[in-house]
Order: sequence, then C-alpha cells, then structure tokens
Amino acid sequence: MHQRQSSFARQVLSLALILLLAAPAALADRTRLKPGFNLFSAQQDIELGQAAARDAERQLPLLNVPEVDAYLNRLGRRLAQFAPGHNYPYQFKGVNQDEINAFALPGGFLYLNRGTIDAANTEAELAGVMAHEIAHVSLRHGTNQLSKAYIAQFPLAILGGALGGGGGVVEQLVGLGIQVGFTSVFLKFSRTAETQADVLGTQILWDAGYDPQGLIGFFDTLQKRHPQRSIEFFSSHPNPENRQERIGEEIERLGPLQNPRRDSEDFHAIQEIVRQLPPPPKRGQRGSQTPQVGRPAEAPSRRFHNYRHRDFVIGFPDNWEVHEAGTRVLFAPPGGAGEQAIAYGVLVDVLDLDDPRASLEEATEHLVRQILQADPNLREVGHQRGRIDGRRALITQLRGPSPIQGDQETDYLFTVRLREGLFFALFIVPESDSGQYQAAFQQMLNSIRFR
Ligand SMILES: [Zn+2]
Repeated sequence: MHQRQSSFARQVLSLALILLLAAPAALADRTRLKPGFNLFSAQQDIELGQAAARDAERQLPLLNVPEVDAYLNRLGRRLAQFAPGHNYPYQFKGVNQDEINAFALPGGFLYLNRGTIDAANTEAELAGVMAHEIAHVSLRHGTNQLSKAYIAQFPLAILGGALGGGGGVVEQLVGLGIQVGFTSVFLKFSRTAETQADVLGTQILWDAGYDPQGLIGFFDTLQKRHPQRSIEFFSSHPNPENRQERIGEEIERLGPLQNPRRDSEDFHAIQEIVRQLPPPPKRGQRGSQTPQVGRPAEAPSRRFHNYRHRDFVIGFPDNWEVHEAGTRVLFAPPGGAGEQAIAYGVLVDVLDLDDPRASLEEATEHLVRQILQADPNLREVGHQRGRIDGRRALITQLRGPSPIQGDQETDYLFTVRLREGLFFALFIVPESDSGQYQAAFQQMLNSIRFR
C-alpha cells in the first residue's frame, strides 16, 4: 500500500515536472512583443477608441445583420482571450462594403467589411485577419502612432504629463487641435507595426487552437485572387517584405498544434447569409445621412494657411478644410468633398515604395495604375514634366466624370521622388469651375517645400 502510494506520488510529481519543463520551453521560442512608446493609459485607449468608433459609424455603412455580428463577436472574442496585455472590451461589427478590408481602433473596436467574409476560404482565414487586427489593439499601435504625432507637435508634453489632468483625453486633444476621429493616425500603420501584428496574430491563432496557416492563406487569397478588391487593405496595412515567410517562421517556432481548427459549418452559413444580401450601396450614392458633395459656396480665399506634413510643408486657402487619414491629407472647400467622393480639393501624401529603387517614372506609373483600378471611370490623357521646389516632377492628367452631376473633370497628378518615397499631389475640380481654381492650385504648388 505504502509502496503504491509512493509510486503514484512519483507519477504525479513527474507529470508536474514534465508540464513545468514543457510549457516554458514551448513558450520560450515564440517572438516576444511588447507595445511601443505610449503617452496614454490603457483606459485612454478605450476612451479614444470609443470617440473614433462613433465617428466611424457616422461615416460607414454598417451591415447591421444580427446573425453576422453575433458570429463575428463569438469568433473574435474566442481569439481575443489570448491577446496579451490589457483586457480590452472587444467588439466586432460588419460593414456593408464589398472591398476586402478590416480595421481596428484603439481599445478593441473592430470593423470587418462584408467583402472580407465573402473572400475568406475557411474560418481559419477569417480568424487570421481578425487575429491580426486584435494584435494591433493589443500592441496599442494606434495610440503609439498618436503619441509620436503628439510629441512631434508638443515636444515638452512628455515632461509635463500633459494628458493626465482634468477632463477627458479626447477633449484635451481636440482642444490642442489634434484630430482623434476616424480619419486620423489610427488608420494607417507602418510596415514594422504590420510585421508585429502578423507575428502576434499568428500566436493568437495558435493559442486559440486555430490553424495558424490561416493568416498566410488570407494574404494569399488577397494577393492572388483579389488584387483589386484589396487595395484599401494594403493601403492601411502596408505589406512588409516577405510577409508570408515571416509568418511561416513564427509557426515553426510555435511548433505543431494538435487538431488545429480550420473550418466550421457556422462560418459557411454566415458567408452564405452575406452572399445573399442585396448588393452594398455604391460609393458616392449612400443614404441621406451622407451630405452630398456639391458646388462650394465661396471661391478659394487668396489668404493661405500652412500645413506641416511629416515630409513637406504646403499652403492652402484659409477658407478650406483639412481632412487627415494617416499621413494622407485632403484640402477641400466646405461641401466640395465627402467621405465617398471628392469633387473639389487637393489630396497629398508621400507613399512608401514597394521597390525602394523605383524611379520617379516607375513609381508614378504604379500609382496611376492603382488610381485607375480604384476608379475605372478615369483614364489617363497625357503627361508632361515640371518642377516642384526645384525638384523634378511628373504631371499626369486624368479625365473622367465629376461627382457633380453632368460635369467632367480633368485631374492633375503631380509626383516627385523623395528619399522617403513618392510624393504626390492630386488636384481635382469640375471642368466648369476649373478657371476659378487655377490661381489657388498654382499658389499651392508654389508653396510646397520638401523637408
Ligand atoms: Zn495591419
């Protein structure tokens, strides 16, 4: 009897030893990731995310199909339990858009286009993109970017703990003139952040028992089967080099997974519901809550303000509005541009290049192709050469129907090759008003100074 007990005790002990030894060994190999520099608390992530989510939901056509949202929340929460760090109140909503896209706001507010559910081949692929988005939240990439932008604008704030005082963080930032809405630093990530979200997303999939190959499968599906429907996804989640290979490497580190979950009947039932829905509203023809773009009430002012972008400074008429989305900026007269269409305005940005050695001509051609894919009504009608701030520029003319009924537009795309990437400025105006805008556009071009 005594003999038996001790052998049982030995077995228990050795089992405990195996568990003790096995678990840290398996964990030790995974890539360790921590959130980067951040001025905000996790609670402030939630507060900022809520404000941005309210803004997003005013601008986006939500799907509002209860079964679909319930499924996304079941799947999303199953994954989110394995996200390290703060326990954010995750919520998931479908968006009635055909493009393949998904985004996450700080604090756990996730949005998935119906096109993403439609394009995924298996539940593991959908889980893959959701785990990637959850990883952005867990690693606090949105408020990390906001912190960097804030420090760039208010370098001394880091000493004063400026964001700790009275009032909500959103009100404080708005008071300082920093945009925290849907069109802001939250929507476009760096390639480093993308790799981190891929790696942590892979770990979350593995921990939740999902086949981590699902994330590779999702990117393969985007790139090989739906290159045009996924332009938006890759503009907010830019492709790091060797994306799929890096995910494969993390899967190797994690080791084999017993009976990974790859698919479910649930997923295919939800996919069928999505596919049977009436087609989504066409962009630019949304419901009545979207203000229609129209002719602005005032001509462009001759008085200019300066806008400081990360890579350049540009002036714009002081009676125009500034809309920011990541590093992309739109200057437009009030009423002349909406979320879905730009009838009047100037769009500027510096794009990262997939090929860092690409020439001005090559990079411009690539950009023009993307614009024409995104708007098939446009066509290229010519190009010429010029200069901006002393540097060589290409000027590409595009022509197509204006969002103003019955009008046409000729758009001028100016591109300059910078060390950081490709600068572009796209000037948009209906032909019937082009005379009135010439002087303002010329003054904006002349005001550009690269840093
Ligand atoms: Zn991403």
